[in-house]
Amino acid sequence: MADEKTIGQQKEEALFSRTKSVWLKADEHYAQKIQDFAEGYKVFLDQSKTERECVDLIECMLKEKGFSDLNEKSHIKEGDKVYLVSRNKTIAAAVIGKTSLIEGVNLVGSHVDAPRLDIRPNPLYEDSEMALFRTRYYGGIKCYQWVSIPLALHGVIYNKDNEKVDVCIGEDPGDPVFTIADLLPHLAKDQMAKKMNEGITGEDLNVIIGSVPFKDDKVSEKIKLNMLDILNAKYGIREEDFVSAELEIVPCQKAVDVGLDRGLIGAYGHDDRICAYTSLLGLFDMEATPEKTAVCYMSDKEEIGSVGNTGARSMFIQDFLAEMLLKAGSDAYVGLRKCLVNTKMLSADVSSAINPNFKGLHATNNGAFLGKGIGICKYTGGNAKGGASDANAEFVFKIRKLFNDNNVSWQACELGKMDKGGGGTIAQYVANLGSDVIDCGVPLIGMHSTMEVASKADLYSAYLAYKCFYEKMA
Ligand code: MN
Ligand code: MN
Repeated sequence: MADEKTIGQQKEEALFSRTKSVWLKADEHYAQKIQDFAEGYKVFLDQSKTERECVDLIECMLKEKGFSDLNEKSHIKEGDKVYLVSRNKTIAAAVIGKTSLIEGVNLVGSHVDAPRLDIRPNPLYEDSEMALFRTRYYGGIKCYQWVSIPLALHGVIYNKDNEKVDVCIGEDPGDPVFTIADLLPHLAKDQMAKKMNEGITGEDLNVIIGSVPFKDDKVSEKIKLNMLDILNAKYGIREEDFVSAELEIVPCQKAVDVGLDRGLIGAYGHDDRICAYTSLLGLFDMEATPEKTAVCYMSDKEEIGSVGNTGARSMFIQDFLAEMLLKAGSDAYVGLRKCLVNTKMLSADVSSAINPNFKGLHATNNGAFLGKGIGICKYTGGNAKGGASDANAEFVFKIRKLFNDNNVSWQACELGKMDKGGGGTIAQYVANLGSDVIDCGVPLIGMHSTMEVASKADLYSAYLAYKCFYEKMA
């Protein structure tokens, strides 16, 4: 009778809430599924280092899965698969459900932009026998992380012939890369005594582009000229074309397995492509036509406040829903309002997992752990929940029940300790429209760094969570 549980043990089991590592719950077959799923994700990450590349790739994937451009359809009906892109930077896709759109949709919303360095409108200059690009950082970065690593250049330029030129240098084997040189320690006495946000500043993030001069004594800026000459030969561009270009500097690093057991993925851009990818695959893998219309929305500009005509504060998602309503036979504004109020949304964005090096900054008992499943954040925001959406108890309960009933591994979490910082997501902007919204995404360590770390178990849990939300959220 040694195995019989004591009354205390039985009560403990019945009453305590304890999360368990997904790996401990997984049998060999399940663990293999987790590993296999991660392989596809790593390829996706390597092919989508900017918001434009991400949206292009997602559009290709949608077409492959039989989705068609909503603009090209005159009517939509149950079971149809449609998508809409805006300005190559934001995209939404839907599988039309059995119930009317006015009953609301099950929406999973993520973002495809990531912190990076943007090339300035007048970027190219020559200094100390080198040519460099001036940059402006985009999103919340720690500037010191961007020095002394190999960097790639991605983006689009319109040349004098009004041709759009796609640029991608530094990703293929054999490509040259770029870098920002740090100061040697021997001369860094003053730098090392500075605060971390002053040791390397945004103005220091000048990227080395080249060093070989154009051989002509009559020319003053020979290296700069050589760079423009090379770019002109390759892309047909001149210096003025930078003004209208969108060029981004990102780490060259490919997504890699981290750890002897290959349980983690280290990569640039998990935030928030990890939620974009899992919510997209969840949409693809639904087993049947869902009751409610399932919508996968991937926005831009989240890292700078969801602003602009491609950010989540724009009308894009409403326009997508309105267009679907119209093509399903209902063009009244009140129909759109009802649809929005009846909509349920998972704001699919990454959260912060406890980093063993900085445990003191995470919320005790309320922090997420790598490997314990998708994180549910009732609220994000700062100390006083400032900027949070703060989901209603009724909705949080429904989500918890949905995940429990469908064996989705999840954990409740907050971003971190109070009064130590904070952050927001797109949740509040969709909540403003009247929908029920909760933050629900993959916990990361090293968020916003050049090498963010996620657990493959949480990646897979997110996929299962989003899939069952589309399929079964009532
Ligand atoms: Mn994010
Ligand atoms: Mn972010």
